[in-house]
Amino acid sequence: MSVCERCGGTGFEIVTRDGREYAQACGCRRAGQERHGDALLDACRIPARYEHCTLGDFFPQTAQHRAALEKTLYFCSGYPNLTEEGLGLLFTGSNGVGKTHLAVAALRELAATKRVRGQFWDFHELMREIKRSFDPETKTTEMQVLDPVVEIDVLLLDDLGAWKITDWMNDTLFYILNSRYLARRPTIITTNFQDVSAQEAVEADRLVRREYLVDRIGQRLRSRLTEMCLKIPVDGEDFRERRQAAGRNAVLGTSGHAPDPAPTEPPRRPRFGG
Ligand SMILES: [Zn+2]
Repeated sequence: MSVCERCGGTGFEIVTRDGREYAQACGCRRAGQERHGDALLDACRIPARYEHCTLGDFFPQTAQHRAALEKTLYFCSGYPNLTEEGLGLLFTGSNGVGKTHLAVAALRELAATKRVRGQFWDFHELMREIKRSFDPETKTTEMQVLDPVVEIDVLLLDDLGAWKITDWMNDTLFYILNSRYLARRPTIITTNFQDVSAQEAVEADRLVRREYLVDRIGQRLRSRLTEMCLKIPVDGEDFRERRQAAGRNAVLGTSGHAPDPAPTEPPRRPRFGG
């Protein structure tokens, strides 16, 4: 099979119109291809506020955004032939810079063109659901939540580290990521926290020191994540502020779920696979 010269097989070419860049569907994409994924797309659990997010309506504002878009395109076109490092994508960047947009767009693209089964989960919501399904009688987690999360083709975990991660959550997340890694199933993750090594975090100037991803999720999880994920930094100007400033859809400016307190009682650890 020959690879399209225009788009290199990604199905998109990056074009400039009216001074802004975006990914335009290449003519080599089969007509109507995107519609075939509808049932799969509906099953992806993409929240309404991200429904509009596609690769074609991500407009890179900086060179880094463009690189992020290109990496996402190549990840999608390469699926399911992924490298070890490409068994996931780790989008990092502050609020509103478009990382969830790109993550959702990748999920949509894979559902539409590669027929993958995918699931979007707000990380904290997923932990609550798993915990809710925990059966204190048998000390096991009912598998109706956990099994699909491990077995789905592509899992999107949004907003990792936004809330305090308990030991139980840490163990559960490690179990999910490790199981998926061993089964070679990609996981797409977004986080507001910058990813640096534990060493770099320690060495950061304490006066300006921020919290890093490793501070939020610990060294073991961070190692696993960086081994399996292609890192995609999406920093820079806040997309949502720009949208609001431009008087566009103010709904896009909401920051998602309302704050709720992290579970306080020590969760009992589920016995997995028993
Ligand atoms: Zn093409």
